[in-house]
Amino acid sequence: MAEKNKQNQGIYDTIIIGAGAAGLSAAVFAARAGMKTLIIGDPNQSMVAMAADIGNYIGTDNWSGKQWLEVGLQQIKKYGAEHVIAEVVHVVKQENNGIFYVKTSDAKQYQAKTIIICVGIAYKTTGIRGEKELVGRGIHYCVACDGWYYKNKKVAVIGNGNFAAEEAIELTSYARDITIISNGQEFQISQEFMNELKKNNIKMIDDKVREFRKDDKGEKIAALILENGKSFPIDGLFVAIGTATALDFSNKLALDLDEKQNIKVNRETGETSLAGCYAAGGCIGGTIQIAKSVGDGCVAAISAIKKVKGISRYVDHT
Ligand SMILES: Cc1cc2nc3c(=O)[nH]c(=O)nc-3n(C[C@H](O)[C@H](O)[C@H](O)COP(=O)(O)OP(=O)(O)OC[C@H]3O[C@@H](n4cnc5c(N)ncnc54)[C@H](O)[C@@H]3O)c2cc1C
Repeated sequence: MAEKNKQNQGIYDTIIIGAGAAGLSAAVFAARAGMKTLIIGDPNQSMVAMAADIGNYIGTDNWSGKQWLEVGLQQIKKYGAEHVIAEVVHVVKQENNGIFYVKTSDAKQYQAKTIIICVGIAYKTTGIRGEKELVGRGIHYCVACDGWYYKNKKVAVIGNGNFAAEEAIELTSYARDITIISNGQEFQISQEFMNELKKNNIKMIDDKVREFRKDDKGEKIAALILENGKSFPIDGLFVAIGTATALDFSNKLALDLDEKQNIKVNRETGETSLAGCYAAGGCIGGTIQIAKSVGDGCVAAISAIKKVKGISRYVDHT
């Protein structure tokens, strides 16, 4: 028993991914319920931070989104939630113990009994000529889903951040020749990931891509045409722009999606198709408003609280 307690010490009751409206709302509920709570994400990268005046959220007329976030962060910390500004690049659930392993851009790994995905809205395509018609024919958005098709092949990952680095490293289980191409952006990859890329002989180039070129039969991708006119032959391309999005997490965890590619949840509980994994806010679709995200965060957190505590009813009246 003592050994089991020791093992559990580093395990959070819940990890909330995303520190915007839904994430902060989930955090305040979880922390107030005495849950060991970690919230990972940069509030300044949230949509809320872009709002100049959130006059339609009751009680905050004339507040900027940044003010609202600042007060929210103080509030969750007051109740004991821990906050880390980092980007989550990978999540898996270990089937034998039901624990979620959450990996961040600074190469840290956290463990939790439940997770709540609150990453907002973002589906990133490159917009480069040829992309749409080559999706699934050499252009992919998920290494965990499609990397297998590229055993011993030459592949590229398009992106300039830690998420692109993580996807490239995951590809080493399959491909023999891997290049990350930043599409003219400056690389913003942490030292830990840079070391991993070097260790795995992953190349990095910063050329801009003008077009995705098909093979002679017009069936699949054959090359990237760079801005300088040169051709860069490849067998496959993985898009990993910016940070990992809701869609990336759902791919990694094999979560069900709805018809609009949002994470599908039980609307009464916020639970996804994977037990112990909840989602809230913009990433589950619906109205794009702070009030809606705050409500979703509350619902998901209460479900996580019930699961961790093994109770069927939880009301916070304190
Ligand atoms: C300019 C503008 C003005 C707006 N004004 C209003 C308004 O006045 N009233 C209103 O109700 N709504 C307004 N909105 C909409 C509102 O901001 C959103 O509906 C709300 O923020 C969505 O909440 P969310 O928690 O789902 O996502 P967000 O608030 O966007 O938060 C997402 C969080 O997830 C984090 N994240 C994403 N990926 C990762 C990752 N891989 N690892 C870790 N963290 C990650 C982000 O950094 C961020 O912290 C406005 C939106 C914009 C763009």
